[in-house]
Amino acid sequence: MNAINETPHDPNCIFCKIAAKQIPSGVVYEDEEIFAFHDINPWAPVHFLLIPKMHIPSMAHVGPDHAALLGRMMALVPKLALEQGCNPYPEGGYRMVTNTGREGGQEVQHLHFHVMGGPRPWLRG
Ligand code: AMP
Ligand code: ZN
Repeated sequence: MNAINETPHDPNCIFCKIAAKQIPSGVVYEDEEIFAFHDINPWAPVHFLLIPKMHIPSMAHVGPDHAALLGRMMALVPKLALEQGCNPYPEGGYRMVTNTGREGGQEVQHLHFHVMGGPRPWLRG
């Protein structure tokens, strides 16, 4: 049994299916706990999503038990952003966005961090 089969997931969740590779995506990064893939509708020249493989519906569901996992995710961003084509800080850089709940503009109910960057202008953001 591989790690994803032991990871809590929601059978109706599109990002759980992407993390389990039941739905194809442009993979940016993968380890036992974390998955990153290109956003299907990019706002910027670089736009990928970083998710826990575990089904956490939103930032509103995060607590102290998730601190190590979220810390690992944040610590991956600088390396992944440069690998994906974001230009170096400070002239370059990137934007991280996490939409939470309806009023926060969240459309997919599986925690995800948008990482957007590359030369401007961008389509949005
Ligand atoms: P949010 O509004 O923060 O929930 O953002 C959801 C994001 O998921 C949007 O930017 C979508 O373009 C993206 N998205 C939805 N379905 C897919 C998919 N199958 N593959 C890649 N990105 C997706
Ligand atoms: Zn999920």
